[in-house]
Amino acid sequence: MSHSHPLHDFRAASSHAAQDPTQRHNTRAAMDFLMQRRAAQFPDADELSRLRDLGQRIRQRALSRLPLLLEQLEARCVANGIQVHWADTPAEACEIVAGLMRQANSQEIIKGKSMVSEEIELNHFLEAQGMTALESDMGEFIVQLAHEKPSHIIMPAIHKTKVDIAHLFHDELPRTPYTEDVDELIQIGRHALRQRFFTAKVGLSGVNVAVAETGTLVLVENEGNGRLTTSAPEMHIAITGIEKVVEKLEDVPPILSLLTRSATGQPITTYVNMISSPRKAGEKDGPQQVHLVLLDNGRSQAYADLQLRETLQCIRCGACMNHCPVYTRIGGHAYGTTYPGPIGKIISPHLLGLDDTKDLPSASTLCGACSEVCPVRIPIPELLLRLRQESVTPENEPNHPHTVRGQGAKYRATEKWLWRSWARIYSQPVLYRASRFAATRLRGLLPHDVGAWTIARAKPQPAAKSLHELVAEYQATQGNQP
Ligand code: SF4
Repeated sequence: MSHSHPLHDFRAASSHAAQDPTQRHNTRAAMDFLMQRRAAQFPDADELSRLRDLGQRIRQRALSRLPLLLEQLEARCVANGIQVHWADTPAEACEIVAGLMRQANSQEIIKGKSMVSEEIELNHFLEAQGMTALESDMGEFIVQLAHEKPSHIIMPAIHKTKVDIAHLFHDELPRTPYTEDVDELIQIGRHALRQRFFTAKVGLSGVNVAVAETGTLVLVENEGNGRLTTSAPEMHIAITGIEKVVEKLEDVPPILSLLTRSATGQPITTYVNMISSPRKAGEKDGPQQVHLVLLDNGRSQAYADLQLRETLQCIRCGACMNHCPVYTRIGGHAYGTTYPGPIGKIISPHLLGLDDTKDLPSASTLCGACSEVCPVRIPIPELLLRLRQESVTPENEPNHPHTVRGQGAKYRATEKWLWRSWARIYSQPVLYRASRFAATRLRGLLPHDVGAWTIARAKPQPAAKSLHELVAEYQATQGNQP
C-alpha cells in the first residue's frame, strides 16, 4: 500500500495558510481558548513543576527499560486473554486490522479516537479493500464527513466553526435541518452514530497508556464513544505506538493528571476506561475478544539515539501546538503530517524520514514556548536543532553516525563550501580585515533581492564603516581633546 507523501509542499501550504485571515482567526481563537483552560488548571506553579518532574521521570524510566516493559506488557496481556500483535510498518498494522475484521466476518469497523490509526491511514486502506471505517468521536466524525484530516491531535475539527458544521451536517446527513445551535448539532451527530454501535462487530480504539505490570490499557475520553467502541462490539482492537507503555499502575494517575489538564483543561476526563481483558464468564458486557496492535513505524529509530529518544516521552496532550506561534498562524493542515505542530516536527522525521519532512525542523522560531508547557519536559528546541543538523549532514559523513532515515536531505555542497569559507575568513585576521573592508566599501553593490530572505525583510545592509573603524575614530577624537 502507499502512504501519501506528507509534505506535498510544506513551504507553499504554510505560506498559503498564513495568508488566510479566516483560518488565522479561527485557529488563534481556538488556541487562546485552550491556553486559558490549561492555565486555569495549573494555578500553582510549584505543584505544576513537581508534577512535570514526576511525569518526566515516569516516562524516562519507562523508556530506559522499553524492550523489557514491552515483553512484560505482552506477557501480562496474553495471560489476561488479550491477543498481542506487532507491526513494524503502517502497512503491517493495516493488514493486521483488516485480517481481524475478516476473522470477525465484518466489513465495517467503528472507531474511537486514535491518532495511530490516522498515522497508518487505516480508513483509506480499508476503503481500498471494500471495507468501511466509521469515526465515532465527534471531531473525527466531522472531519471524516468533510473528507478532511484532523488539524489537531486532541481537537480534530478545531479548524471548523459551528457554521461550517451546520452546513456540513445539513448537506451530508440525510433529512437534517439546518441549525447553528451547538446542542442540536451534537444531538444530530450522536443520533447518526448511536445505532452503528449496536450493529458493528468490531470496534477500534487508541490507547493513552499501557501498563506493563498489569497488562491494562488506559483510554481517556469525554463523549462515551470510547467506552461504547470498546465494549459494545464483539471484538475490540486497540492500537498504539510502542512508546506508550509505563511500568506500573501507580504511574497512571500522574500521567493522566498532566495529560487531561494540559490537553483540554479538565482535571480529569468524563470517562477513564481501563481495559484488562475480554469479557469474563458472568460479566454482562464487554467484547468477546480484545486485540492489542503495537506499532513501531520509526519509533525504534528514535529510541536508538539517546537524545532523540526523548521524543518518545510524549503523552500526546497537544499543549505544544496550542502554544506554538507557528501552529497558531498556519493551523494543522499546512503541515501535511498526522502530528502537526512542535511534536509533529520532532516525531514525523522518524515516522516518515527526513526526505519527506526536511523543512519541518526549520519551521520554528525556537522560542521555547513548546518545551515550557510540555508536561513531560521534552526539550523540543534542542531536538529541532539536532534534526536540523541531521538534515544537512550527509549519510556518509565521517565520524557522524547515520541516525535518521533520509539524513542529509537538505545537504548542499555549495552551502557547506560557503560556511567553510566563512569560518576560514573569520579565523584569520588578515582575511577578516580584508573582508570587512570589502563589505563596507562595496556595500552599494549588494543585490536588492537576496532570495527568500528578502520576501518579507529588508535586505541586509552593511554599515559604511566597521565598528573597529568607528572605535578608532572615536579614540582619535578623544586623544585630540585638550
Ligand atoms: S511534546 Fe509535550 S506538549 Fe507536545 S504533545 Fe507531546 S507531551 Fe504534549
